[in-house]
Amino acid sequence: MSDKPAPTSTDAVHAGDTRAKAYDSVPTPVVQTSTFTFESSAAIVRFTNGEDAAEREEYGRYGNPTTRAVEKRLAQLEGTEDALLFASGMAAMSTTILAMVRAGQHVVYVRDGYRMTREFVEGTLARFGVTATLAPAGDLSAIDAAIRPETRLIVSESPTNPYLSCVDLAGLAQLAQNKRVKTLVDATFATPFNCRPASFGIDLVVHSVTKYIAGHNDVLAGVVCGRAGLVSIARDLRGVLGCVCDPHAASLVERGVKTLALRIAKHNANGLAVARFLEGHARVERVFYPGLTSHADHAIASAQMRGFGGVVSFVVRGGLEAASSVVDRLRIARIAPSFGGVESLVEQPAVMSFYAMSTEERAAIGIADGLVRFSCGIEEADDLVADLDRALA
Ligand SMILES: *Cc1c(COP(=O)(O)O)cnc(C)c1O
Repeated sequence: MSDKPAPTSTDAVHAGDTRAKAYDSVPTPVVQTSTFTFESSAAIVRFTNGEDAAEREEYGRYGNPTTRAVEKRLAQLEGTEDALLFASGMAAMSTTILAMVRAGQHVVYVRDGYRMTREFVEGTLARFGVTATLAPAGDLSAIDAAIRPETRLIVSESPTNPYLSCVDLAGLAQLAQNKRVKTLVDATFATPFNCRPASFGIDLVVHSVTKYIAGHNDVLAGVVCGRAGLVSIARDLRGVLGCVCDPHAASLVERGVKTLALRIAKHNANGLAVARFLEGHARVERVFYPGLTSHADHAIASAQMRGFGGVVSFVVRGGLEAASSVVDRLRIARIAPSFGGVESLVEQPAVMSFYAMSTEERAAIGIADGLVRFSCGIEEADDLVADLDRALA
């Protein structure tokens, strides 16, 4: 199975778009309303009987035309039947998982994953009687061995954070299908322009739209993409939980998506240039970037991805303080969590996401004190490299 044909910049600008819009506007208008009026009681009856249901909205928690337009665009780019937008990536992830499982069932999830996804599976799901087994990311035989009769879902990421491990998506989909288990892959680090998990047989694809897809470090949103039948289960639960994407936020997402192909090309080029520079630097102990032949998953990443993104993780020699001083000396990249925006951002996991742990505890989960996650924006590669060179000197 392969991921073809790839979406193009024309798709980024036009996918899912309708030419006829209110007031003949070019972008999708922001329909900033909390509810929708009916012209008569008979119109309500037609709507509740399902006759007009596909054509109109009822109340803002159940849907909004601006948000819906962006969902159609993202579904086309991801190559799936449908997509559903949420208030954040975590809203997409938690609502989708909740929609898929019930008490007594079991989930397999991977170690090198987003910290709050892990928190949700281990903490929140456990309180509602859904058990879970942790498996190493990308270890298909360990994932297979973790599957039980009551397993409903495998939750993985590709690439993962912060080591950018890449999972054999076709292999994962196949083993899950053999055991009649559904798969959910968080592909935030890939975006549909670098890899589309559904084309490898993955059932549900989640993105933190906050990152590359919106791309400007100015809005929180999330999306789940997949077959219409599965997505509609998540849509029903979204209407109950209320974690909807606001129409104004959706409009910012639409604006961001139109340049996604252009931005990803630049992120990919910058990521590779920065990774190659760092790999040759004496003060850098290790570099993690799937586009480098030194990365453990380079072969599978090359086989299923068109580019490797803008995030480069590396370990500075000398530990916590040495790494902090490099981070503090950077002039272009700003110190902040998050990635995937036009502005380069940098973070040191040991002092940010994992600050509450000791050096030993961090080492046990594979977070070195000298680890730095550098998210290349769309600045010029030469400028990013020169800035890193100066900061490392
Ligand atoms: C940021 C992120 C999330 C959470 O997304 P939010 O939009 O911040 O809620 C989930 N998964 C990955 C891989 C992320 O990077």
